[in-house]
Amino acid sequence: MSTPGPDPTVQDPAAQDSPAPGSPAQDAQASATGQSSSTGQAGAGAATGDDVLVDVRNLVKYFPVRGSGLISRTVGQVQAVDGVSFTLRRGQTLGLVGETGCGKSTLARCVAGLIPATSGEVMFEGRDITKLSRGAMRAVRRQVQMIFQDPYGSLNPRRRVGSIIGDPFAVHNTAGGGERKRAVQELMERVGLNPEHYNRFPAEFSGGQRQRIGLARALALRPKLIIADEPVSALDVSIQAQILNLLADLQSDFGLSYLFIAHDLEVVRHVSNDVLVMYLGRVAEQGHKDAVYDTPRHPYTAALLSAAPAADPDTAASRQRIILTGDVPSPINPPSGCRFHPRCPKAQETCHETEPTLETKAGDPPSHQTACHFPVEPHEDLTQPAGAGAAIRESR
Ligand code: SF4
Repeated sequence: MSTPGPDPTVQDPAAQDSPAPGSPAQDAQASATGQSSSTGQAGAGAATGDDVLVDVRNLVKYFPVRGSGLISRTVGQVQAVDGVSFTLRRGQTLGLVGETGCGKSTLARCVAGLIPATSGEVMFEGRDITKLSRGAMRAVRRQVQMIFQDPYGSLNPRRRVGSIIGDPFAVHNTAGGGERKRAVQELMERVGLNPEHYNRFPAEFSGGQRQRIGLARALALRPKLIIADEPVSALDVSIQAQILNLLADLQSDFGLSYLFIAHDLEVVRHVSNDVLVMYLGRVAEQGHKDAVYDTPRHPYTAALLSAAPAADPDTAASRQRIILTGDVPSPINPPSGCRFHPRCPKAQETCHETEPTLETKAGDPPSHQTACHFPVEPHEDLTQPAGAGAAIRESR
């Protein structure tokens, strides 16, 4: 696989009869029929068709661990992403959730082509972009843009905002002079910035405005996919809502697809069609957001959801929090069998030995898939652990 170099246009501080793709109508239809709009064809090689924008197949990303000494040798591998598959359809949003270190940001960077995958395929509009030459990858990068968590760190403080937003035009040589300035000011207006602030520096903008600057830059080349890595985590709640509404408007206007990474589960549910839950580099559960949130089948998903704040006071009062014990194991030497077994309240002997397959469990819609030997049953109380792991009952 080729190793594309960094692209300055990518920010990285480190129908009438049928509902429109991604529309609430299609979303509701998908939920009712059990058809997942983004991840419904999960699994290697399952998804094809014009409506599929991204089809990730068995993606693996390992980082070598070097020993100390004059001649450093590889002494291990950080298994950051290990065999992840999903599809993302045009005009839809796939939410990616999991604890810090679960591999979601590494997965996003592999999909964006910012780092090379160890193995696997990232099919973008039917082409495996992990096999492209530098030149061919450059063309794909126009279609795939990223926005990041830190609006402060992702903008060069010494450059004027007009110049920053105009970077993609310069790099890809698509507009110059007055034409570029007009295009930049149109973008500024579209994301809610005053075009007259073209010559200001990033420090003269608030956090929310800087995230809008990042969005304007990402939109410059009319991408088809935007990968948003914790785009609202650093913002105040009121500003978060503005940015999320702006993202929804832009998706509707430009037919964008989003791969949306966040640790706030309510934000992910609000913006996503489908949700993919990762644990230690692997997919624990995926499916339509309503299926995953309303009837989580993986104990890890259930624990995450039990810890999420609920807006409804009655829901909050009735919810029993499942507290997972122990730390997330090292991705250098992950546990055998199911990687979640040291912390799982349902773990049994089989879980230590055999890795569970990501599959649809009995009673679930085909799009809802879970990697667990003993999936959570409706109304099952996981605060009374029966397995090797431990969970502690705590009324919230
Ligand atoms: Fe993993 Fe077993 Fe727990 Fe399922 S029950 S999550 S397979 S440890």
